[in-house]
Amino acid sequence: MHVVCFDIDGTLVASAGFDGELYQQAVQDVLGVNLNPDWSQYKNVTDSGILEEILESIPDVEERTRLGRRVKSEFVNSTKQYFERNPRLIREIPGAKALVTTLREFPNVSICIATGGWAETATVKLRAIGIDPTKIPMATSSDAVRRTDIMRLAESRAIRGPVTRRTYFGDGQWDKKAAAELGYDFVAIGGCVDHHVAFQDLQDLEAILGQLRV
Ligand SMILES: [Mg+2]
Repeated sequence: MHVVCFDIDGTLVASAGFDGELYQQAVQDVLGVNLNPDWSQYKNVTDSGILEEILESIPDVEERTRLGRRVKSEFVNSTKQYFERNPRLIREIPGAKALVTTLREFPNVSICIATGGWAETATVKLRAIGIDPTKIPMATSSDAVRRTDIMRLAESRAIRGPVTRRTYFGDGQWDKKAAAELGYDFVAIGGCVDHHVAFQDLQDLEAILGQLRV
């Protein structure tokens, strides 16, 4: 079985224009902290991972937990509001839905989603582009802080039994790093990551299926 795993932001959903901004805004509003604009400087580039690192300096555990919850709920609410106000601005990465639908038909492929976003925002984003999140095994930043742990969990939810090959589609440097750590083949999407297997988007179904050799 070939496990094909997808990141969400910038890989399936064109959320680059608002996702980071809303996250930054929530952190700023609740904690008064500006995020490092270079996210790759954070140990774990996931919603819970970045937050954990920012909150590390607060000694009191209860205070840390309370503030963390507030950032999360503010971010989830502002994302939902953004989606309600701008339904037409939420787009898929071209070809995303068709690729996911096609791959689900292959008997030797098991797809799953491993996102650095929290479950609440991940499901809203997938629904917005017409992918039913209840139909695809998924792990999120609500499950774990480290992307590799999220990916392992997604795989375990997708498949029991022998895996012959693993592929991860992602758009970030951190995705490439996590894929390398776990021995996944990596497919870079969107042009921000320098990698020998890269596609601007997911439209060229034939080329992508050829790459996956399915
Ligand atoms: Mg991404």
